[in-house]
Amino acid sequence: MSAISITGLHKAFGAARAVDGVDLEVPEGEICALLGPSGCGKTTMLRLLAGFETPDAGTIRVGERLVAGDGTMLAPEKRGIGMVFQDYALFPHLSVAENVGFGLPRGERSSRVDELLELVGLAGLGDRHPHALSGGQQQRVALARAIAATPALVLLDEPFSGLDAALRASVRGEVRSILERAGVTALFVTHDQEEALSLADTVAVMHAGRIEQIGTPEEVYGRPATRWVATFLGEADVLPGEVTEGQVDFELGRLPIDPGFRGAADVLVRPEAVSLSLGSGGSGRRVEGRVVQREYFGHDQLVHVELPSGRRIRSRSLSHPVWHEGDRVHIAIDGPVNVFAPTGSP
Ligand code: ATP
Repeated sequence: MSAISITGLHKAFGAARAVDGVDLEVPEGEICALLGPSGCGKTTMLRLLAGFETPDAGTIRVGERLVAGDGTMLAPEKRGIGMVFQDYALFPHLSVAENVGFGLPRGERSSRVDELLELVGLAGLGDRHPHALSGGQQQRVALARAIAATPALVLLDEPFSGLDAALRASVRGEVRSILERAGVTALFVTHDQEEALSLADTVAVMHAGRIEQIGTPEEVYGRPATRWVATFLGEADVLPGEVTEGQVDFELGRLPIDPGFRGAADVLVRPEAVSLSLGSGGSGRRVEGRVVQREYFGHDQLVHVELPSGRRIRSRSLSHPVWHEGDRVHIAIDGPVNVFAPTGSP
């Protein structure tokens, strides 16, 4: 069963079509990321789901229940939805336990709070006040509060943006495991692709008020449905190519692929699909190029290579071997590429 079913959702603010025809299904127990650039409509989607905005058209169901649309507009507190706000919105004058238990029936409050603090790894900290907790701990309090009343759905608004980079990666894993153990369906909004790809079961990529593609992290990254998704997620260089029966020919070789059209094509190549080596040998066509720039990141490197045509391509690899500007290298494609009709064509 779906925890969220959205059909034909529209919301405009004056001339700005913030949400412009969205259909979305999130199965029960899944974590879905709404990922897109600033202004694409993510926050508006979250506010429509939570009940802070009224849709212009379309329907929203949480579980089987219609919460908005078709003349219905349930108040936020009637929707069975928990929220984690960007700034956590904890009550500063209440203790951690009081924050988590806020809104729970008195009789079951104390045992449920203990259970939740245990779940989020904060057992024993119930008497502290939010200001005496780290950012990551505050976030876990917010999460515990959001799932306290066993909602059908939890919405998280940019949940990691308040944390510094080092903390973000570890907290991400914790949040995922807490949501999994609580068995709750979650929808979170982010503009950070690494966050979306690493945390979500499904990623809905939003662009200009619409969902451009929805799929597993591997699908949206590895098989982007549109050129926009391909360039928004990760890095890609574009080389001209020619599609014939079941294959594409371009400067770096000939690959079996069927993009569903014939003729001129743009071949989008991710840096990790490009491998460099010294000398010849190996199988397949190899092209020689010259290293023109190297960016070193510690765990890996991005090497810019000039091809015989004068075009450039980037190769991402582990930090060894070390390439230098001017090195002559052989270039091979050893990963999937994506092929799109050239810009401007239908
Ligand atoms: P960000 O990542 O920057 O928060 P977003 O993807 O969440 O962006 P939204 O905040 O949903 O995007 O905004 C989508 C569009 O709707 C934008 O063009 C924005 O200017 C407009 N918009 C959102 N809320 C309002 C409002 N209350 N009044 C007028 N325009 C609005």
